[in-house]
Amino acid sequence: MTKIVHETKSICPECLKVIDAELLEEDGQIKIRKTCEEHGEFEEIYWSNIEHYKWVMKFQDDGEGISNPGTKKTEKGCPYDCGLCEEHKSHTVLGLVDVTNRCNLRCPVCFANAASVGYVYEPTKEQIKEMLQNLRNNKPVPCYSFQFAGGEPTMRDDLPELVKIGKELGFLFIMVDTNGIRIAEDGKYLKALKDAGLDSFYLQFDGLDDEIYKKLRGRKLLETKIEAIENCREIGLKNVVLVVTLVKGVNDDQLGDIIKFAVENSDIITSVNVQPISFSGRVSDVERKKGRITTYDFIDLLEKQTNGKIKAKYFYPIPATVPISRFIEAETREPSTKLSTHPCCGVATYIITDDDGSYTPINELVDVDKFLSILQKGYSKTTKLEITAHILRDAIKNIHDSGRRKLIQQFLREGTFDAAAAFHKNAIMIGCMHFQDPWNFDLERVQRCVIHYSLPDGRLLPFCPYNNLHRGALENKFSVPLREWGSNHGGLPISAYC
Ligand code: SF4
Ligand code: SF4
Repeated sequence: MTKIVHETKSICPECLKVIDAELLEEDGQIKIRKTCEEHGEFEEIYWSNIEHYKWVMKFQDDGEGISNPGTKKTEKGCPYDCGLCEEHKSHTVLGLVDVTNRCNLRCPVCFANAASVGYVYEPTKEQIKEMLQNLRNNKPVPCYSFQFAGGEPTMRDDLPELVKIGKELGFLFIMVDTNGIRIAEDGKYLKALKDAGLDSFYLQFDGLDDEIYKKLRGRKLLETKIEAIENCREIGLKNVVLVVTLVKGVNDDQLGDIIKFAVENSDIITSVNVQPISFSGRVSDVERKKGRITTYDFIDLLEKQTNGKIKAKYFYPIPATVPISRFIEAETREPSTKLSTHPCCGVATYIITDDDGSYTPINELVDVDKFLSILQKGYSKTTKLEITAHILRDAIKNIHDSGRRKLIQQFLREGTFDAAAAFHKNAIMIGCMHFQDPWNFDLERVQRCVIHYSLPDGRLLPFCPYNNLHRGALENKFSVPLREWGSNHGGLPISAYC
């Protein structure tokens, strides 16, 4: 039997117009269904388990937008007035700055590289400085952390200089998204990035079998990934995030092995971030249905592939952390960063590693439900310091491991990056974010997005609307045709691997 559980808005996958959408219970799953007057009805899986959907939605907890929005709500409405507009419900937690669309790979799953689109998008150093400054200008909570993205950011020789600019502007945490090729091959460049202040690599890592890389990236790459990690170890860059693009039938049997690999290399690897594939307009219905995998599928598979050790129920939706931020805000009396995404955008948990190579899920050391609900209740009552102290005492009673208790207590009291870093010692975060595509696009998710691109026209655009709706126009405005770039730079920016 079909039952409507929620009404929202989405876009037509053909014409990209905003249309009404319904979330439905059907066949044990939540589906999104919508009808475009011109292009007909579309139905897509939204969440693969009804009870789990209901549970994650209990954690919806909106943050605050920014008090200095870049655009106003105008006649076009959301998601076409992005900038951020005054209606956006979250501030920027993670900034993104694309530094190039050139790449040294041509992944079959990527349509954004220069060779495919026919132009080179590469903001100047001055433009990038302004884009970073715009992130820092957010009020009341400035953005503290960002990623250089692309294309492949390491195609730029001046990337170390750009990292240095980021640090000079006061960013506390700077990451580079990378396929790892240059990190594996160019030790001098890697050292220059570290010396400039780079904090972390967001390393594309789809599994431990080269057949996967051949399918998803067009060539064997496992050895390259391992060399990149070794090189980071050698120079003491101890913060690598493994980023897995998850595709059903291609690498969904790799999750247990990837966690094992992360634990074995936990001196360097601090997080595993899984991204169920999202599809562009060019994919066929058959291909899309074959490869579609959801956040719930991921946590369910991980439980099975770790023999029940990392249970699906150990994963909490990202906004479950908002009560922690509110507590810190009350304690420090400073505006605090809130990860107030929509609950269906992402989930995460931690495992704590031991010297003997074993690990323990944090949920076995902390009663997370009780811990969060005490902080949640405390927030609605008061923001007075004496009472937060009382809440803190109650909350930490649910932390059964004395070492962790001390670290979590310190983080709640100080709310600083250093305190967060101390908590992360011996911990691996396992997270999953399912970026949206035109089929599962939900405006309620988009309006709560915390990951924002900073653009050369001065706007900040949430990740999912940017990639689905705005990227082409923006890049066209600020790019040069491929041939023109080639004649100015002594050759076309197409890699040797194409
Ligand atoms: S996604 Fe956010 S910033 Fe963009 S138009 Fe909608 S509410 Fe405004
Ligand atoms: S990037 Fe997309 S999936 Fe992630 S928080 Fe923003 S809207 Fe949600």
